[in-house]
Amino acid sequence: MSKNYIVGFPRIGEQRELKKVLEEFWAKKCSFDDVLQTAKELKARHWVYQRDAGVEFISSNDFSLYDNMLDTSVMLGAIPKRFRHLKGEELYFAMARGNDECVAMEMTKWFNTNYHYIVPELSPEDNYSLNASKIIDEYREAKSLGIKTKINIIGPITYLGLSKRVDRGDVYELWSKIVPIYEELLKAISTLDDEVVVQIDEPIFAKGLDAKVLSLIKPTFDRLSAVSSNIKIAVLTYFEHSNEATKVLVHTPIWALGLDFLYGDENLKSLDIIAMSGKKLIAGVVDGRNIWRCDIEKTMRLLESISNFVSKENILISSSCSLLHVPFTLKYEEKMSGEIKEWLSFALEKLSEISLLSKLYFDGEGSLDKAQKEALQKNVQANQNRKNSPLIHNKTVQDRVENHKKLQREGDAKERLKLQREILGYNDLVTTTIGSFPQTPQLRCARSDFKAALISKESYEKEIKKYIDECVAFQEECGLEILVHGEPERNDMVEYFGEQLKGYGFSQNGWVQSYGSRCVKPPFIYGDISRPKPMTVDWISYAQSRTNHIMKGMLTGPVTILNWSFVRDDMPRGEVSKQIAVALSDEIDDLQNAGIKIIQVDEAAFKEGYPLRDEKIKAYEAWAVRDFKIAVSSAKKETQIHTHMCYSEFNDIINTIEDMDADVISIETARSGNELLKIFKKVGYTKEVGPGVYDIHSPRIPSVEEIVKQIELLLEVLPKEQLWINPDCGLKTRKWEEVKLSLKNMVEAVGIVREKLKS
Ligand code: GLN
Ligand code: ZN
Repeated sequence: MSKNYIVGFPRIGEQRELKKVLEEFWAKKCSFDDVLQTAKELKARHWVYQRDAGVEFISSNDFSLYDNMLDTSVMLGAIPKRFRHLKGEELYFAMARGNDECVAMEMTKWFNTNYHYIVPELSPEDNYSLNASKIIDEYREAKSLGIKTKINIIGPITYLGLSKRVDRGDVYELWSKIVPIYEELLKAISTLDDEVVVQIDEPIFAKGLDAKVLSLIKPTFDRLSAVSSNIKIAVLTYFEHSNEATKVLVHTPIWALGLDFLYGDENLKSLDIIAMSGKKLIAGVVDGRNIWRCDIEKTMRLLESISNFVSKENILISSSCSLLHVPFTLKYEEKMSGEIKEWLSFALEKLSEISLLSKLYFDGEGSLDKAQKEALQKNVQANQNRKNSPLIHNKTVQDRVENHKKLQREGDAKERLKLQREILGYNDLVTTTIGSFPQTPQLRCARSDFKAALISKESYEKEIKKYIDECVAFQEECGLEILVHGEPERNDMVEYFGEQLKGYGFSQNGWVQSYGSRCVKPPFIYGDISRPKPMTVDWISYAQSRTNHIMKGMLTGPVTILNWSFVRDDMPRGEVSKQIAVALSDEIDDLQNAGIKIIQVDEAAFKEGYPLRDEKIKAYEAWAVRDFKIAVSSAKKETQIHTHMCYSEFNDIINTIEDMDADVISIETARSGNELLKIFKKVGYTKEVGPGVYDIHSPRIPSVEEIVKQIELLLEVLPKEQLWINPDCGLKTRKWEEVKLSLKNMVEAVGIVREKLKS
C-alpha cells in the first residue's frame, strides 16, 4: 500500500527549461507552439518522476505557464476590462506582464513565501463564465500517459481573499457570482472519469479568519460537494494551522482534509474531530518549503502520534505544501561538499522520502526491499552526521552570541542626531541614494568571469574600482550630498554576505520560481554563523578615499539575510538571526574604525518575515527588532545608522519601526504622495526620514516640477529638518541614462525648494 500524496510539483524544469522557452518567446525568438511543446514535455517528465518514485496522488493543473492564480482568473473569466480585446496567449501574457497599451496586473507575495502571484482585479459589474479547457486538457494529457491525476485548483475563498476590487468594495460580496462557476467546473470535471479527486487549496484558512469569512466555508463546501457524487474533494491548507476552518470543514461532505503539521503543529489539536468525522487526513509531514533531508525516524514518531487519533487507513502521507518552493534536484550539484549535500533534499529527493516513509509506516520495516533498507539506513546516518558535524557547531560563536550583552547603542536618538548633525554638517533636505547604481552587462560579465576564474583578481578589482570611480564622479558632478559606492561588487544583497559568512552554503542549480519566468537561488544557512574577516570595509574605504563627501557604508540587515535564505531547521530562526546580527555588529565596528561615518543597514525583507497569524507577530517582532539593534549596537553615538525598507505600509508596524531606533529610515512612498508618511507624524516620530521622492520601478524620468511638488507634499507632513531626499529604492535595475537624468532632476528640485523656503 502506498498511500502518499504530493501537494504540487515545481514546473520551471530541472534546467529551467520553462524559463528559457518563455523568455525566447517573449523576445520573439520562438513560437508559442515551441512554448507549448516544452510545457508538454515538462509536464510528462514531472508526472513520470512522481509515478516512478511511487507517489500515488500526483497532481495535474499544478503546472502553469506563468502563475496559478492568473490561471484561475482565466478559468473564471475574470479578465479586467483593459485586456478584453485580446485573446489566447496574447491575453494571458498581457495580464501577467502588460503590453504597449495596458499595464500589467499587480503582483504580490504568496503568503509568507518568496513566490509571487498575479492579483485578480474584480469589479461588481463583471459577469463570470467558465473556461475549463486548461484543467480538462491537462487531466487528459496525463491520462494518455497512463497516469490518473488528482486535479489541483485554488479554492474560491482563497481566490477572493487574495483579490482586489477595483471599486475597493468587499471582495466577498462577489462570492455568489464566483461559486456557481466553480460548480460548473466541477460538473465538467465529473465527466472526465468514474471518479476524480479534486484538491482545493484554501491556504487563506491558515491566516485566522474573521466571522464573515468563516461563515462562507460551510455553504461553499456543501455546494461544491453536492455537484457530483463521483468527485472526491480534498481541502488543503498549509504554512500554518487552520483549526478554525477545520472545525467547520468536518461538518461538510468533503472527502479529505490536508494539513501542514510542520509549520502548523497546532493542527494536532484538531485530530480528534477529524477522527470523529471519518474523513481522510492528508498529513503534511515532509517539509515542502525547506531543503533539509527529512528525518525519517522523527517523522515516524510524528505520524505515530497522529495515528493515536486518526486511524491509519484514513491517513495519506504528504508534503507539507507544494514542492514549488524548493529547488528541483540535487543531482546537478557538483561543487557542493559531499558532506553537506547528504543533509539536503530538493523536490525530486523528497519524492523518494515520502515514498519510503509511507512504505515504512503502512507496511512496516519488514516490508522494505534491499534498496529501501539502504535508503533508510542512509537517512538515519545522514541525520546523525548532521547533528554531530563540526561544520555546524561552533562553540566560540555559540558562547559569544549567548553572552552578547550589548543590546543597543548608547544615547537616545535625539541626543545622537544632534551630535551627528554637528559632525556631519549636512543641510536640511539632504540628498542621497539607496545604495546600488545600475548593474551594467560589463559588470555582470566581470563578476561571472572572475567567479569562473577566467579573469584574474587584479583585473576584476580594476573593473570594480573603475565603476566606483565613475559612480563617485557622477554623484559629485550631479550635486548629490551623501554618496554611495554603487554596490558593483554585489550580485545580490544576501548572497554577497552569505558568501563571506561561515555557516552558509550555496547551490549551483538550486533555482526556485519567484514569479513567471523569474527564479531565485537562495543560499542556505547550515551552521553557526561567523565572519572570518571584514566583508565590505575595503570597497567602502576605497570609495571614501575617492571623495571629500561623506560615503555611506552599505550592509544588509540580519532579518533580511535570514528571510531570503533557506534556514537551518535545527535551531529557532531568532537564534540564527542573532548570530548574523553579532557578525554584522563587528562589520559596523570595522567600518566606523575605518572612518565611515554613515552606515545603512537594509531591512528590505523585514516585513516579509511577518507570521501569518496575528497572535505570533509579537514574538517575531521581539527577536527581529532585538537583532537589528544588536547588529547596530557597536555604532558609536556619532556614527549615523540608516535603514531602508522596500515598502510603505507602515501603519501596522510603525511602533516596531520606532523600536528599531535607526537614526534615519528611507522608505518606499513615492507612489502615494504624502499619505503614507502621515503615520510618522501621527506617532510623533522624531528621527529622520527619507520617504522616496520618485518611483525607481519604472523607466520614466520624473520631471523637476514633479519632484518639487512631491517634496512640498512631504513638507506638509514633516519639517525640513527631518526629511531626507532620495529615490525610493536602489537603482541597480535601471539604466544609467535614466538614473542620470532622474537624479539631476531630483537635485535641481531640492535646490528650488530650498530657495523657496528661504524666502
Ligand atoms: N542597498 C540596496 C540597493 O540599493 C537596497 C535594495 C533593496 O532594498 N531591495 O540595491
Ligand atoms: Zn528598497
